[in-house]
Amino acid sequence: MRDGGLRCPGCGAVRPLTERFCEECALPLVHERAPALERAASARRRAARKVDPRYAEGEPVKVLGARNQAEAELIQGLLLEEGIPSMLRTASSSFLPFGHSDVYVPAAALQAAREALLRAPGRDAG
Ligand SMILES: [Zn+2]
Repeated sequence: MRDGGLRCPGCGAVRPLTERFCEECALPLVHERAPALERAASARRRAARKVDPRYAEGEPVKVLGARNQAEAELIQGLLLEEGIPSMLRTASSSFLPFGHSDVYVPAAALQAAREALLRAPGRDAG
């Protein structure tokens, strides 16, 4: 991944960090931050389009508990690859100081979610 590059706001040419002005337009170069944010936004839009409407019906049901937020988000991403929307509910128990999160999916997606998680690498049963 390229980061920290400079871009000309006039012609869009990408310049190395050592330069301060575009040699074509003489405009001051800007950091390539805005396009990165746009890419992130379009990734979110793609994620929204990925949801399979068949999986978006029914009451939320718990599909599994994640040990922490990071694992929960990993699982959400994995489910989304299968078109399954999901949400997190964080248990508020004083016995669980590490933000234990339960992953919920719509009832219509429960079976597919379980199968997707069984196929997922890196999770041992139990
Ligand atoms: Zn330029």
